[in-house]
Amino acid sequence: MMRMTVLASGSKGNSTVISSSRTRVLVDAGLSCRELLRRMALAGEDPATLDAILITHEHIDHVAGLAVLARRLGIPVYITEPTHRAWGRMVTPRTTMTYAKWLDHVQQEKEARAAAVAQGNLEIAAEAAPDSNADNLCEPETPIVKSNPSHLPAVEYFHSGTSFCIGDLDITPFTIPHDAADPCGFVFSAEGIRMAVATDLGYMPPNVKAALKRIDVLLLESNHDLEMLRDGPYPWSVKQRVLSRVGHLSNHATAEFLSTDYDGGAAYIVLGHLSESNNAPELARIAAEQALVNHPTLLGNRVLLAMQSNPLDPIML
Ligand SMILES: [Zn+2]
Ligand SMILES: [Zn+2]
Repeated sequence: MMRMTVLASGSKGNSTVISSSRTRVLVDAGLSCRELLRRMALAGEDPATLDAILITHEHIDHVAGLAVLARRLGIPVYITEPTHRAWGRMVTPRTTMTYAKWLDHVQQEKEARAAAVAQGNLEIAAEAAPDSNADNLCEPETPIVKSNPSHLPAVEYFHSGTSFCIGDLDITPFTIPHDAADPCGFVFSAEGIRMAVATDLGYMPPNVKAALKRIDVLLLESNHDLEMLRDGPYPWSVKQRVLSRVGHLSNHATAEFLSTDYDGGAAYIVLGHLSESNNAPELARIAAEQALVNHPTLLGNRVLLAMQSNPLDPIML
């Protein structure tokens, strides 16, 4: 038996529970600790049984609750060394910047948030917002946390392309093209079932296409509708970033992958990381279903949509 429970998916926070019958891991912790615990309870996932947290990359929508949750549960964090270093710099900027630079950085972040809010673009405002104090209820501030916000109970490094095991879960991380230090996706397998997480990628390079073979449950990015993004509220520089080869997959790119390179073996395709400003769930669904309809052998694939605001019902195989 394997299970995937998407707790949240989108640019305001990402987190997914993957379990076998003996092992349970959390992929990314992109909401506050309190919200992650609330969603796990809603979805019937017991946080006390989590064995580890795995991180795809250091963007805030994937790590917002990481340190607090890992400390609260006392479980190890699996991460690549470059991502760990980038995250450490992010949460302890004062140790690596001069005071003047730090003030500059804070000012720039403030301005970016104010500009985004002024444009009514709450998605960008949320992405630019630093880890909030919402976690105060989750963890009292101990001296060790105060002096070192990047403190984690245990850190295990992995390398993309090299498989490793946690309990009876076999995990293969693969490199994805995205503007982070060392971003990756994962393939999980146990008891002959394979599940994959592939979001936050600018395009589908050959190594990702190869990694996504023989997958039973595939969480795949379908971030934006090209027209909505082009005509939408984002500043041009942000549009360029999203559209770039290290940005996010459009509905069109996802559909193209499904109709040309996908082997059709999945029971479920979960479309994720949908933009709230530049996509509509029905557009993402129609694009993917259209791609599958063109291939009669793929008609057995069910398309589901992962949401930002609510956990998806657990998918069990
Ligand atoms: Zn993301
Ligand atoms: Zn990202």
